[in-house]
Amino acid sequence: MRSTQDCDVIVIGAGSAAFEAAIAAREAGAERVVMLEKAPEDQFGGNARFSHTGFRFVHSGAEEIREFIPQIEEERFRRMVIPPYTRQQFLDDLNRVTQNRIDPVLAAALVDRSNAAVHWMRKVGVKWENEKVTKVGDKLYMEPGINIHPVGGGLGMLLSLREIALGMGIDIRYESRVRAFHGNDRRIEGVRVSTPEGEYDMSARSIVCCSGGFQASAAMRARYLGGNTDFVKVRGSRHNTGEVLHMLLDLGAASAGHWQGAHMTPIDSNAPAVETPVMHGGRGNSMNRYDYIYGITVNQLGRRFYDEGEAKISYTYAKTGRAVLQEPSGVAYQIYDQTGIDYFRHGRDYPATMVEADTIAELAVKIGIQPDVLVDEVARFNAACRRDVAFDASGPDGKGTVGLEIPKSNWATPIEKGPFRAYPITTGVTFSFGGLKIDDQARVLSTSFEPIRGLYASGDVVGLFFHNYPSCTGQTRNAVFSTLAGQGAAQLAN
Ligand SMILES: Cc1cc2nc3c(=O)[nH]c(=O)nc-3n(C[C@H](O)[C@H](O)[C@H](O)COP(=O)(O)OP(=O)(O)OC[C@H]3O[C@@H](n4cnc5c(N)ncnc54)[C@H](O)[C@@H]3O)c2cc1C
Repeated sequence: MRSTQDCDVIVIGAGSAAFEAAIAAREAGAERVVMLEKAPEDQFGGNARFSHTGFRFVHSGAEEIREFIPQIEEERFRRMVIPPYTRQQFLDDLNRVTQNRIDPVLAAALVDRSNAAVHWMRKVGVKWENEKVTKVGDKLYMEPGINIHPVGGGLGMLLSLREIALGMGIDIRYESRVRAFHGNDRRIEGVRVSTPEGEYDMSARSIVCCSGGFQASAAMRARYLGGNTDFVKVRGSRHNTGEVLHMLLDLGAASAGHWQGAHMTPIDSNAPAVETPVMHGGRGNSMNRYDYIYGITVNQLGRRFYDEGEAKISYTYAKTGRAVLQEPSGVAYQIYDQTGIDYFRHGRDYPATMVEADTIAELAVKIGIQPDVLVDEVARFNAACRRDVAFDASGPDGKGTVGLEIPKSNWATPIEKGPFRAYPITTGVTFSFGGLKIDDQARVLSTSFEPIRGLYASGDVVGLFFHNYPSCTGQTRNAVFSTLAGQGAAQLAN
């Protein structure tokens, strides 16, 4: 006979959203909190394991950020340019990149609670360091609103969250796949758990679902994202295959977000099919190819196909992967000259797939593009670059092209100083945008838009984004909705 166990709060998953929900539930008084994670222990942590994990949140500027990074020496800190990131800026960023499709209630909840949620993480014990900087003269610049990430990157954050959770007596069970729910679209009562030793049922007063997106399932990518997404590279965890999401939709949960959309980025064409490696110390993913603002990107036909300088990288990288996928064979080449390489190579030591040649024609031959076409494309680009405006990497500099059908709006510097380089890229998927519909208390809603009693959700399993995404919003969203979910779940349990 199958055994039944009981607890106060079940949290599904052991990624960052799950840990934050479990810790918040314990803090709010839930006694028996159990985390059920499908992955084995040495693969725990979901997507954040593969990330350096920056946080975007509303803050008042340098003085406040100093509270997170007191260890940085004063002289260096003073060189960092850290303007405030306001509520309105965060809202504008979310609305602009999602083309005004983001749920305004959830967007306001995310923005308004972002500051408290990140401070909560600091208070529970997560340690921080400053984000990657772009050096211009003596000053150190960061992307707008993104100034800190946890020490040790995503894995560092996960290890501290896990230690905090274990210290609070939270029961973390690995190789424990949730494979069914007990309950209906009005009330959730428990789950069935599949383990290597067999199955058991577990009941709880409330459940927080933090099971991630469906991006690691080729079948679900093909079904929902379409357009050859079944063969893209998966940047994060192999375990995010969407079955929990599907079970809850079958039960009567409502869906939200962009089901044909996902966070897709340009990635080294030789990246592994899944779980791209991170650099030492969690300094970011070694397969990312985000330096496209310093050069041009062409498709296999030798033609540019998007505005590489539309905006700062943090506002364009998450949609650039889809743009690449739509080109022939789903591959493209980032082309740089020595001026462009100088801009981005400082501090970078990733093992990139790269081809070099003294002339553009030779480079074209090496990457299999018709030389006369690439020579023509580069010449047309060079002729269109404004030379009367100074290049400035600290922000959009207005140094755009003039007269091109596909402009490069900023940082348009002629490709003329050899040797030249081509970095072959393809598409990497980070997380899916379609998911469960929640309210501003992180309660999962039924298809009648009523809260399903006892069911909360946070993280990538929630449907929130459309088209594109302002970088480093995922972790902040996790912290915001997981603290709400943990607190709500604990209230039901007490
Ligand atoms: C390379 C990379 C870089 C990134 N960089 C950043 C960044 O800098 N800043 C930022 O904000 N975001 C970043 N992200 C996005 C961010 O990491 C994710 O949004 C976030 O980790 C999602 O957290 P989650 O807890 O919802 O999901 P996950 O961390 O993916 O966790 C979901 C968990 O659920 C488990 N699970 C799935 N199915 C079941 C089941 N049936 N039963 C039990 N458990 C199950 C999975 O094994 C997994 O552990 C990055 C992502 C990647 C991949």
